[in-house]
Formats: sequence, structure tokens, C-alpha cells
Amino acid sequence: MCYMQRIVEMIDIKKIRADFPILQREVYGKPLVYFDNGATTQKPRVVVDSIVDEYYSVNANVHRGVHFLSQQATVLHENSRETVKQFINARSTNEIIFTRGTTESINLLACSFGEAFMEEGDEVIISVMEHHSNIVPWQLLAARKGIGIKVIPMNDKGELLIDEYKKLFSEKTKLVSVTHVSNVLGTINPIAEMIEIAHANGAYVLVDGAQAVPHTKVDVQELDADFYAFSSHKIYGPTGIGVLYGKEDLLDRLPPYQGGGEMIQTVTFEKTTFNELPFKFEAGTPDYIGTTAFAKALDYVTAIGLDAIAAYEHELTTYATQRLKEIEGMRIFGEADSKGSVISFLVNDIHHFDMGTLLDRLGVAVRTGHHCAQPLMQRLGITGTVRASFGIYNTKEEIDVLAEGLKRISSMF
Ligand code: PMP
Repeated sequence: MCYMQRIVEMIDIKKIRADFPILQREVYGKPLVYFDNGATTQKPRVVVDSIVDEYYSVNANVHRGVHFLSQQATVLHENSRETVKQFINARSTNEIIFTRGTTESINLLACSFGEAFMEEGDEVIISVMEHHSNIVPWQLLAARKGIGIKVIPMNDKGELLIDEYKKLFSEKTKLVSVTHVSNVLGTINPIAEMIEIAHANGAYVLVDGAQAVPHTKVDVQELDADFYAFSSHKIYGPTGIGVLYGKEDLLDRLPPYQGGGEMIQTVTFEKTTFNELPFKFEAGTPDYIGTTAFAKALDYVTAIGLDAIAAYEHELTTYATQRLKEIEGMRIFGEADSKGSVISFLVNDIHHFDMGTLLDRLGVAVRTGHHCAQPLMQRLGITGTVRASFGIYNTKEEIDVLAEGLKRISSMF
């Protein structure tokens, strides 16, 4: 038996499913088949319990209090930062900024990096497969500062063209901001190589890791990423929490993003001095209840093991691709050699919205539409797709429900 198969067999799917109470529910009298994990994942009991327990037994504002509860809440919050640090192998907790999510992490960097490191005429490189949250912040910066935006193209399999990428650099290129894994195509971009190329051209790199961190081991030091953004809610944690990782020497040189409590050292009406990292970037009361629960989610994933998760999800995706290809008129968007657990598709000329609505009646939750990637839809020449995205609790039996449902629905048209 090969190594991959052995680690897949270590996954106790029954036990994992039992950890997620929502998976027991029915939709329209049918067992829920939840295939919208790319949008958000369901939460295991340990995560929800953590939220309830902390509100009931610890709740107090962090960092400011001399009293017992405040200190206990602070310890929990800062321990969570340590958990995140270890999870992505950052050098220090000073490199872990808590945000509201990937979107806020990218906006933070666009504002702060744009302010300090970019001037009119400078350029940022993004790719054709970016989520809107890695396009619009750069357009806002372009409108404010007159920077240019260049776009890496892709081939018809949904793979970025690395030779074309190399040609986009000029002495004006200050930053590459690119997704690690596409939320539409599932493409796993060769991010380490792309970072090396950017560095050789004197540019920094921000990686949008929203769709990568839940499915594959990410080591920011090994990647040599300058900045890396991701969201808690896509990795079985609560909504409203995210991370911006940044190399400490770079974060030190960046100005604050928002002003307020927590991010200051001294304030007079004439002058304010800023707090040290990471607090310089964390104005206001943080979601300390959320960060504790987030750490519980990371511990949960770590206990299963990211290698096992990646292998299991790869097996699911391979099986799903095979089953979907049995359906007449099936078009799959994104067939990169290196691909994560996302399948975007259309069947004949059935509108994605109709397909999604009919699948929903069968208890199957998929996402339909442009997936916040309208420029990618334009590149593909379509208005949207149906997207099934898998997580650690999904099964081959559920994929059979999807495949049989698709067959039934397409025979109706
Ligand atoms: N980037 C990618 C690739 C995503 O898939 C998403 C979420 N769909 C985001 C960014 C934005 O994440 P959030 O909404 O959690 O800020």
C-alpha cells in the first residue's frame, strides 16, 4: 500500500463527521450534503464550545485590565497568536496580525504598503484568477496614488503562465499579490517559484492563502513569503477573524492602518507614538473570543494532520472529477496538473443558478455565480459556474448524491 493511501486510511471519517453537529441536519427532508466549503466551512463542536465557554466563564477585555478575568482573556488571546505562529511556522508572534479576514488583511497591506513603499507610476502584479478582494484594494490604491496594475495570464487548463509573469517585471514593480489556490479553478499556483522570481526582480510578495491554508501545509519561512493572508472561517474556525502574516522587518517599516486604542504607546494632542508589533496594526478591541476559538480550529486540523487532509481531499476530488465526467455535456473549468479540492463546472447550457437551485432541493449545497472573480469569468467567456468544494467531513457517498442529482437534473432539460 502506498504512503498516500496509508495516510488516507488514518482519517476516521465517522468520528470527524460526528464532530460537526450541522452535518446531521436535513434540508427539504434530505440529508444535507455540504459542498460549499470554499465559501465557508462548518464548525466542529470544540470551536463552538470554546465561544460559549469563554463568554460564560472568562469574558473581559484584553490587554488593558489588571483584574483576573482580563488577564486570563489576554493569555488566551495571546496563546492563540502563538498557535497561529506555529501553524504557519512564522518566526515570531510579532509577525501575526489579527484582522477580520483575508479581505481586511489585503486592504491593510494595500493601504499601508501603498503608503510607505509605493509612489506614482509604481506597479503591482496580480493574476487573472484573483478574487475581487485581491483586485479592488489595488484599484483603490491606483485611484489614490496613480500606481499601475499588471495581470498574469493563464492557459486554458487554468495554470498561470510563468514565462509571461517574468516579462511583467520592471524597475517599477514593487509588489506581487497573488492567490496561492484559486477559489474557482482549484489551481495550486507554484507560489514558491513565483516568490523566488519576484525577489530576484526586487519585488515583495503578498500571498492570498484563503483557499490554501485549510487544505495544505503552509510554511511561510519555507515559501519565503513576505506577507501571507488567510481567514479563520474557511478553516473550521469562527467568522470575523483572519490573519496577516508579515516578515517582522517589513511590518516594522510599515505605517499603521487604523488609529485607535491598543495601537498606541503615547498620545498627546500634538503627537502620537505607536505601539510595537503586532499591536501597531490592531486598533480597537480585538475579537478575543474569536481568536481563542480560531486556535481551537487550528488545533483540530493539526490533530488530524494536514498531510492526511490533503491526501483525503485529493482522493475525493479525483473521485468527483471522474464521476462528473460521466455526465453528458459536462464542462469542467480548471484542469491544472496541480489542483485543490474545488470543481467548477457547467452542464450543457443549463444556467448555473438553475442547477444550483435544483441541487439545493436534493439537499446538495453548492455555490453558483461568478465566485467574486468576474475578470476570471470574462477570461473563460462565461457568466458563472456551479462550484463544489470539499472539506474534511465530505465523503464519496455524498459525491454520488451530487453526480446522480446532476444526471437527473440534466435529463430534465
Ligand atoms: N481570496 C480568496 C481566494 C477567497 O476564496 C476568498 C473568500 N471567498 C477571499 C479571498 C476573501 O476571504 P474573506 O471573505 O474571508 O475575507
